[in-house]
This record gives sequence, structure tokens and C-alpha cells, in this order.
Amino acid sequence: MITTLLDGNKRFVAETFSKDQARYADLAKAQRPTVLWIGCSDSRVPVNTITGSGAGEVFVHRNVGNIVATNDWNLSAVLEFSTNHLKIPDIVICGHYGCGGIEALEEESPEDKYIPVWLINAYKAKERVDEKIRALHIEIPPEKRMELIVEENVRLQLEHLQEYPFIRKSMREKKVNIHGWVYDMNSGEIKVLQRNTVPVRE
Ligand SMILES: [Zn+2]
Repeated sequence: MITTLLDGNKRFVAETFSKDQARYADLAKAQRPTVLWIGCSDSRVPVNTITGSGAGEVFVHRNVGNIVATNDWNLSAVLEFSTNHLKIPDIVICGHYGCGGIEALEEESPEDKYIPVWLINAYKAKERVDEKIRALHIEIPPEKRMELIVEENVRLQLEHLQEYPFIRKSMREKKVNIHGWVYDMNSGEIKVLQRNTVPVRE
């Protein structure tokens, strides 16, 4: 696989880069992305492919379960760079159905040490969905329940995003909108769940 990637790079240079040199030379000077994408690390959710976007257009942060944790310095630095330097006006949190990270909320693997700690940041999504199901006294198929948890996790992470004071400030000043999406691997479609133009709470 490694040599396949390097062969792929040779093809990219020959077939794509060399034919659009002016654009790549411009990109080499500076990036001006207009969207920050917070998505899952899952290999089946490649942002540029599923959104038809290209180099220079989307600033990307990916992790297991598309989680926003306010004690995560990695994401915090991405958000700060996105806000203070790149002045990106739209932040998308995109989950996906069939997410292994979300499924791991159900079944912890005994050899995992870090994944359960990381998933603490998503646990509330599962609790909220289960509470709702209990309150409505309904039976829903397990796959449907997992889909609801994936969606609720996106909403929960949008809430976490607004725990950053500088994000709330940017929203108040109409400099940033935040969006919750879910990608369906079976249809290739993105479902829009939520869009916040003002902070939910101060
Ligand atoms: Zn995932």
C-alpha cells in the first residue's frame, strides 16, 4: 500500500499538479480556506472527495468520533488558528452513520486504554438518545438507535464548540456560523442537521 501511495503521488504530479501549475503556485504562497471541517478519522469519510472540494479550500481536523473536547490542545490550536489567522467563516462538524467510534460507546474493547477515555466526550449523546427512547416508550431497531446517537453526538459536539469563549464571541460578531452534518456512507449523501448563527447560550 505504501508504494501505491507514492505511485499515486507521481501520477498526481504528472496528471494534476503539472497541468494547473499557476493555481498550485498561488496556493504555495498562502492558504485561504473558507470552511473548517471537524470530522471523523474514518477512511471512508474523505472530506475533499465527498464535498467535491480541492486543495486550499477546507481546513481540516479529524479525530475518532468527530469530537470537540475543550481539553484537547490539538483541536484548540486548530480552532484558534482558524479563527484568529485564517478568519474562516464556517465551521462544520460532520459525523457519519456506521461510526466505529460511536459504536465503541456500546462495546468497550478490553485492550483499549485511550479510546474509552476519549469517548467520555461523546457519552452524553448515548444517554440523551436512550432517555428519549425510554420517555417515549417506543421500541426502535438497534441500527436506528445508533443512527440517532451519531446525530446526537454531532449536536453535542456543536455545544462543546460553543464552550470556547472565542467561538461564542465570533458567533456574536457574526464572523462565524457553525453547522452540524452527517454523512451517509450508503448513499454518499450529506444530511444537514443543524446550523447555528448565534450562540445558543451566553
Ligand atoms: Zn467515525
